[in-house]
Amino acid sequence: MVPYDAQLKSHYLAYELLKRKLRISYVHQVTKSIKVEDLRNIYKNIHRGLKPSSGMLPGIERIPHNKESLLYASLFASLYRNASQLEICAEIDIPAMLFAWDFFCDMFPNHSRERRPYTKVRPANFTEAWVIAQALKIGLAELPYCEKCHGNTLVIYNSKFPLGCQICALNKTRKP
Ligand SMILES: [Zn+2]
Repeated sequence: MVPYDAQLKSHYLAYELLKRKLRISYVHQVTKSIKVEDLRNIYKNIHRGLKPSSGMLPGIERIPHNKESLLYASLFASLYRNASQLEICAEIDIPAMLFAWDFFCDMFPNHSRERRPYTKVRPANFTEAWVIAQALKIGLAELPYCEKCHGNTLVIYNSKFPLGCQICALNKTRKP
């Protein structure tokens, strides 16, 4: 038996994550005591009968599709890291994720879209944001500091983007 307060805590967490439409499989990873079926029902209740999306989860290397969207993703990653008190390369800091995502949505209220086609503003939804946090945790991505421009840009290993600072790369292409 899971103690009552632990149960309450994971239901509250599930609610916060499902409210932001995180994919059920990710919610289940962090609220193990709640059955997938129950998570689906909570989702439907919150979103007025809307079914949770299924199918393939987005891969980190496919989230930013151009250099500009990589900069938005870098901004999100920076917000997340700054909000976190934990080692985000060792675990996903859920309260920091919730804060960073809500803040990011406030910054771009008209750009962030939940459905395809997505705009250049990425992550386009909370699941993509989660994938970024997960990539930082497992080392598929990093957020190094650039000594040249003093910015931080997301480096995604195994993506089509060359490793290195994307702010500097973008500035170079913009020069006449
Ligand atoms: Zn730079």
